[in-house]
Amino acid sequence: MCGIVGFAGERPAVPVLIRALKDLEYRGYDSAGIAVLADAGGTLSITKKQGKIANLEAALSSNGPLAATVGIGHTRWATHGRPSDQNAHPHLSCNGEVVVIHNGIVENYAELRSELLTRGHTFLSETDTETVAHLMEEHVASGSSLIEALRLTAARLEGSQAIVAMSAAEPGVMVAARLGNAGGIVVGYGDGEMVLASDLAAVLPLSQDVAFLADGQLARVDREGAAYIDLSGGSATVQRKRIPIDPVSALKGDYAHFRAL
Ligand code: GLU
Repeated sequence: MCGIVGFAGERPAVPVLIRALKDLEYRGYDSAGIAVLADAGGTLSITKKQGKIANLEAALSSNGPLAATVGIGHTRWATHGRPSDQNAHPHLSCNGEVVVIHNGIVENYAELRSELLTRGHTFLSETDTETVAHLMEEHVASGSSLIEALRLTAARLEGSQAIVAMSAAEPGVMVAARLGNAGGIVVGYGDGEMVLASDLAAVLPLSQDVAFLADGQLARVDREGAAYIDLSGGSATVQRKRIPIDPVSALKGDYAHFRAL
């Protein structure tokens, strides 16, 4: 299980995402990538590279929409599909509308993949994660909101997952789900901006006002705040608290102590 980060605000997202991914490097990883909404029309731009975050930074400096203010990022530790640029997250649905990052293992991915292939989807990676993007795309195409698409998709997944997605159809929105224990999802409340991550260490430099998703909870996050539901679709109560620690201390010493479990 590796690193997840997300940011929605008014300042450029790429430097925030890269900084947050670096805060998660201690977990180990084999590749890194980000997706940002390149413009108000909601065009998604994905940059991902095998190897160190430095490789991703080099690719971004020649090719990324650096002014984007909303985006998600991932450091991968491969479980399904070798480490490669193509298997790195984020993964995009066929129609280019839904982009997904994921920690964990979709245990029934082979069954889902063959089902999706039968329905005409094309896969660009060998990962289990890509099934999530295609399933979500189908729900969005049938009229579901992004959070509803993730909730309905979650019902099809076996295993433990932490999932974050964005859509060109809902610019400015990130959705997240925690299913079982594939690492956590922590949401951080800033001043006119919001952040999320798999680990508190990546959130604390931006916010000490945080909420932790429990197993079976989902979040819809935009730059103004967050709303929470559970797998039944009803509203969920999250554990929100102020972390009494300064970010400098949080980035020293024993990282494991601050993980969102
Ligand atoms: N199972 C996914 C993959 O192989 C996610 C791995 C991870 O948690 O980093 O891409």
